[in-house]
Amino acid sequence: MSAPRRALVLTPALLLLVACTGAGPAAPAPPVAVPTSSVAASPAPAPARTVVLDPGHNGGNGSARAEVTRQVPDGRGGTKACNTTGTSTDAGYPEHAFTWDLAGRVRTHLEAAGVAVVLTRSSDDGVGPCVDERGRAGQEAGADLVVSLHADGAAASGHGFHVAYSAPPLNAAQSGPAVDLAGDLRDALRAGGFPTSDYTGRDGLAPRSDLGGLNLATVPAALVECANMRNAEEAAVVSAPEGRERYAAAIAAGIRTFLAGLPA
Ligand SMILES: [Zn+2]
Repeated sequence: MSAPRRALVLTPALLLLVACTGAGPAAPAPPVAVPTSSVAASPAPAPARTVVLDPGHNGGNGSARAEVTRQVPDGRGGTKACNTTGTSTDAGYPEHAFTWDLAGRVRTHLEAAGVAVVLTRSSDDGVGPCVDERGRAGQEAGADLVVSLHADGAAASGHGFHVAYSAPPLNAAQSGPAVDLAGDLRDALRAGGFPTSDYTGRDGLAPRSDLGGLNLATVPAALVECANMRNAEEAAVVSAPEGRERYAAAIAAGIRTFLAGLPA
C-alpha cells in the first residue's frame, strides 16, 4: 500500500512545482505533465481478507442439554457431542463469556486493519452452533482462515496457552497452512508475554485428531486455548478486561502475520 500512497501524494506536489516555476507574468503556462505512469505501475492493493472467529461454546448451552449432547459428525468418520458448556474460573467466570468478549476485541483489531470478520455465533446467550457447523464456517464464508477461541479447564497447577491444529491432516489446508497459522498464533502470543503450556502440547502447539471444528475445515484453521481458567494466576488475567485486551492484540497480530504471507 505504501507505493500507491506515495505516488498520490507526489502528484499535487509536482503540479505545484510546475505551476510555480512556470508562473512568469507573460509566460504561458507550460503543459502540465500528470505522472499517471507511476500510479499505473504501482502494485495492486492487497486483496480484501476475510477471517472467521469462532468464540467457543455459548451462554445457553448449559440449559439445553439435549440439543448440546446430540451427536454430530466429527470429521473423521465418527461422531461427537454437538458442543459443551465449556469451563470457568473457580470464581465462576465462564469460558463462553471469555471467548465472546475476546472475539469482539480481536474483531476490532482486525477490522481496524481492513480485514473482514465473520463470527460463528451472534450473541452470548444462545445455544450452539454445533462443532460440525463451526468447522464448516470458514469455507462457507469464503474465509482465508478460522481461529477458534477457547480457554482450558485443567489441573490448577498447570498454566500457559497452547494452539491446536488438525493432525493427521485430512486435506491440503490442514497439511501445511493450518500448522503455519498455529505457529504464527503461538509466536504472537509468546511475543505478547504469554507463557506456553507446561501441561499439554509441545512448545505451545498441540496436534489433535479429535476436534471436529478443526477436522471439518478446508481452510487453514487453528484453536487457541488461551489459558488454564483453573489456574489462579491465569484466572485473574482472563477475568480482567486488560488481560483480555492483551490476548486480543496478540491473536490479531498472529492472524495478520499469517495473512501477510498469503499469495496476492
Ligand atoms: Zn472450550
